[in-house]
Amino acid sequence: MLFRTLREQVVAANLELVSQGLVLYTFGNASGISRTDAVVAIKPSGVPYGELTPDQIVLTDLDGKVIDSNLRPSSDLPTHLELYRHFPNIGGVAHTHSQQATAWAQAQRPIPCLGTTHADYFHGPVPVTAPLDADAIGRDYEKETGSAICRTFAHLDPDAVPAVLVAGHGPFTWGADPAAAAHHAVVLEYVARMATATLAINADARPLDRFLHDKHFFRKHGPTAYYGQATGLRASNQ
Ligand SMILES: [Zn+2]
Repeated sequence: MLFRTLREQVVAANLELVSQGLVLYTFGNASGISRTDAVVAIKPSGVPYGELTPDQIVLTDLDGKVIDSNLRPSSDLPTHLELYRHFPNIGGVAHTHSQQATAWAQAQRPIPCLGTTHADYFHGPVPVTAPLDADAIGRDYEKETGSAICRTFAHLDPDAVPAVLVAGHGPFTWGADPAAAAHHAVVLEYVARMATATLAINADARPLDRFLHDKHFFRKHGPTAYYGQATGLRASNQ
């Protein structure tokens, strides 16, 4: 089997979305990329998660041409490809319709950073895309969704904010590998749920002060990070 490890990582990331309660039926998908080979591995379209095996994971090139599979890739593949093309450091992408993050996407409101849990993972609000117009949707809906995400990050660092809310649709997250992308999807849902609760308790709750936000983000990320262990654990791990 070609790219066995990458395929196994992609299966594990997809199953993590399910085990964390982020996926209903076959909604959602996770993918990974081998940058050295420019090969993307993604969940097949419509296959139930309970039956997902590494050999069913579809391999494509960065133009979406299937390299090794009889199954069709997830219909969201063109969105994943746009992210891989424009965000050069990412190695995995996850997409869900998880309830709280999707509610913020439907409300078309960025998730403000109201506490340190958010600040540990996302350096700033989690942004929301502009809605797609009818032309874009008719032209190439899934690719245009990716383009809308990339436009949202024209002045944002995707490595510092590894998540976005697609207006009226739901979240996409990414990370260094498929596991990190799924991990960020889980944390995003938790952060979204807490933001909803915080604003229900106090509609005037203010975003975290910038210095506290920076303190939490930079103690886990970048050259001054000191949180956790230095022996290869991902910076985003608790
Ligand atoms: Zn979707």
